Amino acid sequence: MTIQRTFSIIKPDAVKRNLEGKILSFLQEAKFNIVALKKMQFSKELAEKFYEVHKERPFYNDLCAFMSSGPVVSSVLEKENAILDYRTIMGATNPKDANCGTIRNLYAISIDENSVHGSDSEENARIEMNLIFAQSEILP
Ligand code: ATP
Ligand code: MG
Repeated sequence: MTIQRTFSIIKPDAVKRNLEGKILSFLQEAKFNIVALKKMQFSKELAEKFYEVHKERPFYNDLCAFMSSGPVVSSVLEKENAILDYRTIMGATNPKDANCGTIRNLYAISIDENSVHGSDSEENARIEMNLIFAQSEILP
């Protein structure tokens, strides 16, 4: 299995509850190497661009309002099979369905306030990390 990079966001609900340290530590214990990291706040426009694929969905406006409602922690994570492995430890979108011991099972409040984002494909990982980080902010 080859080394991959994925893009992660610790969402506003988790940062608001001071969970970023716990979640980053969880990721490091799961053998993810953090190769880029920043605390930031999405503008409404950036959130709309980031979640453009969901533009036609009924939850799009609420999702973009939530994602720009407070600080987040964005990172690029490196590991063998990073994309699928991170999706696995995140848990299902709705925390009610998230497996025991996953980040969303441990920390998420609801399907809207579900604490973390993770890329769902190599192509989206590349698009997302390049939207949020300059090349110079990502370790080679
Ligand atoms: P993310 O992209 O944030 O990592 P995901 O890939 O698990 O989450 P997506 O289908 O990409 O899920 O949906 C993006 C976000 O939109 C979800 O994290 C969730 O907050 C919200 N969302 C998805 N489906 C619903 C729904 N049926 N009702 C309300 N909100 C939803
Ligand atoms: Mg998604």
